[in-house]
Amino acid sequence: MHDLEEIIDQTSKGLNVAEIRSKFPVLDQEVNGKPLAYFDNAATTQKPQEVLDALNEYYENHNSNIHRGAHTLAGRATDLFEKTRSSVRAFINAPSVEEVIFTKGTTDGINLVASTFGKTYIGAGDEVIISTMEHHSNIVPWQMLCETNKAVLKIIPVSDTGELDLQAYEELLSERTKLVAVVHASNALGTINPIKKMIQLAHDRGARFLVDGAQSLAHLDVDVQDLDCDFLTFSAHKLYGPTGVGVLYGKRELLEAMPPYQGGGEMIREVTFAKTTYNDIPYKFEAGTPNIADVVAFDAALAFIRSIGKKRIQEQENQLLAHAVELCSQINGFIPVGTAREKVSVMSFTIRNMHPFDVGMMLDAAGIAVRTGHHCTQPLMDRFGLEGTVRASFAVYNTNEEIDRLYESLVRIAKRKN
Ligand code: PLP
Repeated sequence: MHDLEEIIDQTSKGLNVAEIRSKFPVLDQEVNGKPLAYFDNAATTQKPQEVLDALNEYYENHNSNIHRGAHTLAGRATDLFEKTRSSVRAFINAPSVEEVIFTKGTTDGINLVASTFGKTYIGAGDEVIISTMEHHSNIVPWQMLCETNKAVLKIIPVSDTGELDLQAYEELLSERTKLVAVVHASNALGTINPIKKMIQLAHDRGARFLVDGAQSLAHLDVDVQDLDCDFLTFSAHKLYGPTGVGVLYGKRELLEAMPPYQGGGEMIREVTFAKTTYNDIPYKFEAGTPNIADVVAFDAALAFIRSIGKKRIQEQENQLLAHAVELCSQINGFIPVGTAREKVSVMSFTIRNMHPFDVGMMLDAAGIAVRTGHHCTQPLMDRFGLEGTVRASFAVYNTNEEIDRLYESLVRIAKRKN
């Protein structure tokens, strides 16, 4: 197998997608007698061979608990674990590794902030702002917090094209706003929100800003210093990495001031029955044995992304999205949902007179994997008066041929009722 750098050099006009696909064994299979076309990348991406190998390699040669043992394997496991932290730091341009906390995923990161920063600094009458297009994991933790602490949750509305109403946002911001928590790119519609501007507006009013980066990190360059966000959360499994690993970035002064999330091993400096003192960041927020093997293998996923480059990934995905939209818009009964100008590679739609789930089942029969339903964004679906949509989301390994198959299948499916 070629090195990726070499593969890229072989092609003058971009990526050699066939070579990239060959790194993903799971893509090379038939589903219902048809070649698999995997378009459920916003839910989770497939994993390249390097990630699978890194997992095996870790368990075969280095497995040990970290940060504690005096023996050689413990030292190696610790070094590998911390190497991923350094790679993540560079990936998001965090000022230091201490500001990079490993979590279980985006959901865990948001809950961490709600349970520590939120419980401590958001009190009765204070306000938290989120938006109509949030994933449930960036709604429910804030609802729970606001209920407990008697704070007020405010919601930025969404336009017919699936974009945030920035004027309404400015009007919602007040002296009582303590935190704004908004998704960078919508999992249900693909909309990319103008997060940098929104962060600045929040800071102008003295509020902190959490970015839900679950859908943006795989597609867009995200630089936490340039954005000046206070918190950023994301999940490795949407970045060609393993499940069960996520990252919370937080500004040092905030993380140092916040109380711990969970109590247990690793997060302490000294435990006595009289008084326990806590470890320094990031360990203060990493109680217990973490998901060591998957964190180690996540480094291989980051290397995979680096070796192609976000720019090339984005170009490939934008091209796929444009191709899909152009073809599918010609289908009688095809109704796009979310038509923002700035989008990641998500095509959400309904077929007139058909339930999204039925469309998904028929596509599955043709070997095409899409997501159907509310995509954990029920308030957003309510906004559009929909129960759900069909969502095709594209990754760097998808091809125009696969999209042609999606189109041809949708033509046949839509014809039944239109
Ligand atoms: N936020 C967004 C925008 C998402 O798309 C997702 C997952 O789909 C999440 C949060 C939750 O991520 P996880 O389930 O990995 O914690």
